Amino acid sequence: MMLSNFTYSDSNHRDGVYYLVDEAAMLDFGNSFASFLQTGLIITLIGNLGAGKTTLVRGILHGLGYQGIVKSPTYNLVEIYKISRLYLYHFDFYRFNDSREWEEAGFREYFNSTSICFVEWPEKIGNLLPNADLQFSIEILETGRNIAIQTGTDAGKQCLEHWRNQKKT
Ligand code: ADP
Ligand code: MG
Repeated sequence: MMLSNFTYSDSNHRDGVYYLVDEAAMLDFGNSFASFLQTGLIITLIGNLGAGKTTLVRGILHGLGYQGIVKSPTYNLVEIYKISRLYLYHFDFYRFNDSREWEEAGFREYFNSTSICFVEWPEKIGNLLPNADLQFSIEILETGRNIAIQTGTDAGKQCLEHWRNQKKT
């Protein structure tokens, strides 16, 4: 796979932190994860408004072969994507403020072994959210972004390890 706009070289990468110079680099970075994602994964995205959380998910969805528009789910809390037999749920809980809504919308059922869930603003859900497998934390820099990756489960570790092995080759 061509990984053009961002480098994985050790000089640009310290302790699992990656520097992404622009939006194209962010899209490429997301794209590079696509083939390592297994069903059942829950991936949380941390970062201020405008950090690039939705951009990262857009890159991943493009990498998975989704060719439509990937818009921010801010207003309806979730966008649903179906790519062949795979269901992807992209949540943005920025506007979530009533825990009854979690029950009423049946959000818990979205987190299951046949789907992949991306969650912006998991902080707003607190302990209603199942344990995340992977977490991306995006920091806004004067130019570009730093992104740190953390794992929360064995499934997350495995995904990250496979992704890292690929970048070395
Ligand atoms: P969020 O979902 O975190 O609120 P968005 O992805 O909607 O953020 O928007 C992020 C903004 O930052 C967009 O304008 C996008 O073009 C820009 N952006 C994304 N990644 C980068 C990057 N690595 N460097 C600079 N700008 C970026
Ligand atoms: Mg967003």
